[in-house]
Amino acid sequence: MRLPSWQIGYALGIPIRVHASWFAIFFLLTWALATDYLPDSLPGLPPERYWAMGGMAAVLLFLSVLLHELGHSYVALRYRVPIDRITLFIFGGVAHMRKEAPTPLAEFLIAVAGPAVSFVLGAVCLGFVALAEPIPQQRGLRGLVILSTLLGAVNVQLGLFNLIPGFPLDGGRVLRAGLWAWGKDFYRATKQASIIGLGFGIVFVLLGFAMLAGSAMGGAPASMASNGSWIALIGAFLFAAALASRRQAALRQSLAAVPVRNLMVTTVVSIPSQCTIEEAVNQYFQPYGYGGFPVLDDGRLIGLITVHEIQAVSSAVWPWRQVGQVMRPVSPSLIVEPDAPVIHAMEHMAREGWDRLVVMQDGQVIGLVTQSAIMHFLQLRKP
Ligand SMILES: [Zn+2]
Repeated sequence: MRLPSWQIGYALGIPIRVHASWFAIFFLLTWALATDYLPDSLPGLPPERYWAMGGMAAVLLFLSVLLHELGHSYVALRYRVPIDRITLFIFGGVAHMRKEAPTPLAEFLIAVAGPAVSFVLGAVCLGFVALAEPIPQQRGLRGLVILSTLLGAVNVQLGLFNLIPGFPLDGGRVLRAGLWAWGKDFYRATKQASIIGLGFGIVFVLLGFAMLAGSAMGGAPASMASNGSWIALIGAFLFAAALASRRQAALRQSLAAVPVRNLMVTTVVSIPSQCTIEEAVNQYFQPYGYGGFPVLDDGRLIGLITVHEIQAVSSAVWPWRQVGQVMRPVSPSLIVEPDAPVIHAMEHMAREGWDRLVVMQDGQVIGLVTQSAIMHFLQLRKP
């Protein structure tokens, strides 16, 4: 779904975004509460009160999902796994981790932290209900008890649903952590846990359709139709997510098995640092057609110059500005060893924003590995 999302703030230093599809669920929820659930459980109030309470409950449910994701994020950050952002959308929330958990134990703890937060929230809400229920109630307290019951039940359900052991649900991550610890192979564990995710996706779709059929043939309450379509939708979403995870794991597995040496360009052309930008453009960039060149000084690598750095300099100064003055200076992040797996080179580039790395062995430049070479390799070997 290519819909926009908006940033609404930060928590734990992580940007929080709301996806356009989230508004659909917010409205549906408020509407269902205001016109059905609340008038049933708390009769005799004016409609605007129901809408206000419904809206408030929807916001609190949204906060519950956010706290669940912050639970994952908090533990991830403890393990130095950066979180790019948290997005809330129609089916809940996602904390986008920039890299995978470092160990099976870390993966397990990050995965269970979300449901743990949901269960604690559920227990607090339902505990409040248990305490307040016996007290003779005025309407204000009664409203609070009804909201807490709803919130408690939803949080417990959120925790339970997420513990279903199909990847990429939290329970599937717990399963992957176990398979990873057992078989010592992260990618194989991901593929196996994703297959269970595919299975649960299919089961949910079938169950949803069975409920739809049941209500269409009569004999079942009408609410079953909406529940059925919701369950089928969630199943389809889980299926698609599990399929994507499986494909990605297969892809990464193939990139983890290939050394940089096999993909690198070995006919490296480099530019001397005293060269002016104009010379670089006329004698290197245009005739060779490459996107970037290593920069050498006395045969020693001192940086990399790409089209990007040249574009940043006004063409008026090209005749006298030297390459050494505008290049990106060499740093360990620019260099990769020939025997490192391609997946490391790729993560390197993604993290630093490079599109190529210099391959060095024993202090000598022996090749270049580029993002486009990796893409071509992947296209040829589609899993
Ligand atoms: Zn979760």
